[in-house]
Amino acid sequence: MKNCVLCGKLGEKHHIVYKSQGGLDIPLNYIYLCFEHHRGINGPHKNRYVDKEYKLNLQEELIRLLKKDYYDIEELKKILNINPYQAKIVQINLNKYKLGYKKIEVIKRIMGGKIYVKK
Ligand SMILES: [Zn+2]
Ligand SMILES: [Zn+2]
Repeated sequence: MKNCVLCGKLGEKHHIVYKSQGGLDIPLNYIYLCFEHHRGINGPHKNRYVDKEYKLNLQEELIRLLKKDYYDIEELKKILNINPYQAKIVQINLNKYKLGYKKIEVIKRIMGGKIYVKK
């Protein structure tokens, strides 16, 4: 069990990009929130601005982590902290080019097939 990143109380696992939105079961897509910060009125399930903020933060983190334009799967495993099974899932629907997997497509894949824009 992990603690809420906001208040330190006992946390529940929240998928930043929901599984219904194409979100993946990988550590970067999890955040731990207590019941209130998860399901309460200011939590991502009730407040779409908070929801989008978590998504934009994840997207920015991915942009920070992936500095090159192309990656091979071994590099992605290390950078994204994913196991071989999770790597297989990430690779689904991902084009493989001569130079490897394309940064922007990896980000889009993890974001559930879209790039989020700040408004
Ligand atoms: Zn949740
Ligand atoms: Zn909390």
